[in-house]
Amino acid sequence: MKIEPKIPIIYKNKFPKNFVNTPDGWAFSEKVIKANKGKILTLDIDFGNYCSLNCPHCFRRNNKVDFGKNKVMQYSDIVKVIKDAKKLGLRSVKFLGAGEPFEDKRFIEFLRFLHAEKIIPVIFTKGTVIGDDELAKKWNSHYGINNGKQLVNELKKLNATILLGFNSFDTKVQDEMVGGIKGYTLKRNKALELLVRAGFNKTNPTRLCLAMNPITKQNVKVLLEMYKWARTRNLAAIITPTMVAGRCAKEIEWSKITPSKKELVNLYSKIYKWNLEKGISTIEQLKHDGVSAYAGVMGCNEVACGMYVTLTGKVLRCPGDDKTLFGDIWSESLKNIWLKSENYKRAGTFNCGCPPKIGKSIPKSFFLEVMAQLDKIKTKK
Ligand code: SF4
Ligand code: SF4
Repeated sequence: MKIEPKIPIIYKNKFPKNFVNTPDGWAFSEKVIKANKGKILTLDIDFGNYCSLNCPHCFRRNNKVDFGKNKVMQYSDIVKVIKDAKKLGLRSVKFLGAGEPFEDKRFIEFLRFLHAEKIIPVIFTKGTVIGDDELAKKWNSHYGINNGKQLVNELKKLNATILLGFNSFDTKVQDEMVGGIKGYTLKRNKALELLVRAGFNKTNPTRLCLAMNPITKQNVKVLLEMYKWARTRNLAAIITPTMVAGRCAKEIEWSKITPSKKELVNLYSKIYKWNLEKGISTIEQLKHDGVSAYAGVMGCNEVACGMYVTLTGKVLRCPGDDKTLFGDIWSESLKNIWLKSENYKRAGTFNCGCPPKIGKSIPKSFFLEVMAQLDKIKTKK
């Protein structure tokens, strides 16, 4: 059954001239990137290892990732990584895994620490804890937080940006996508409504984003409408083909689910056409900035101003690449790892395209083809 969360429209017609096209802390403007050349502005990190969902492609067993004999970062190790990165310029931290960050009793404590350090937390979540009062209480009652509304209020105080998993409006499809967990979608919708009520989408840049990833053969036809639905409500949207990493490390796995190049080019160009019509950017800006790996939002600059620190202390190029290892925090300082990294050499670059995906999950010349297709659509008008 299709259930649309009740979220009022914010931008009915044109977007404001000063509109910032990224969720807060996710990517950085060209001005910030150039003014802070050589600094680590963002880190992707893993925090915790538990998740009660059961997505079909997830590599975890019994709700946890098995790290084998690898040493795993403890709370104090992660704090040290952040403090070291702060000295190198850190402004935001993205929580990627290795589980659902809200299913960890020390998560709020960690967010409070980040807040004291003036670092923006950017949190990927499926929304199960926020949208379920019992779970919000289970994981947070020791902070005096006993329901979803109180949890959301705390997140607002802590200046968090939320990237909420959002693959479908259809409850059956969405429940299936997290492992056939009945009632999941209703909790996710409740989480979204609570966040909106608390004003997470009232700011510019927005602090609320829908992670619609990945683009698959099933959703490629509905993503344009979902994108428009989100953006008119000042919810950013993350839309990109699946990464050849983690759960989809085998090429055969992602080629089974990823649509054809033609369909991808079509989707991206329609999204950019809509952006131009709505004034999210001008054609001159788009030509200057280039097409983003995340359709329609600011280009990814993670690989010029960030790195990914996994729970085992390995430092990787970015979350889309589990092969390019820069070092590990047990044997070398974060500063050294950063200074000799390939990302540091790219410092100052605004839109980096997407080195790990180009030629793999994003076909070569893809961005140029999107621009060419966009030109065709515009000429036809
Ligand atoms: S939400 Fe993420 S960590 Fe949890 S089961 Fe799904 S893919 Fe795995
Ligand atoms: S470089 Fe590509 S895979 Fe890596 S974070 Fe950016 S968009 Fe994602």
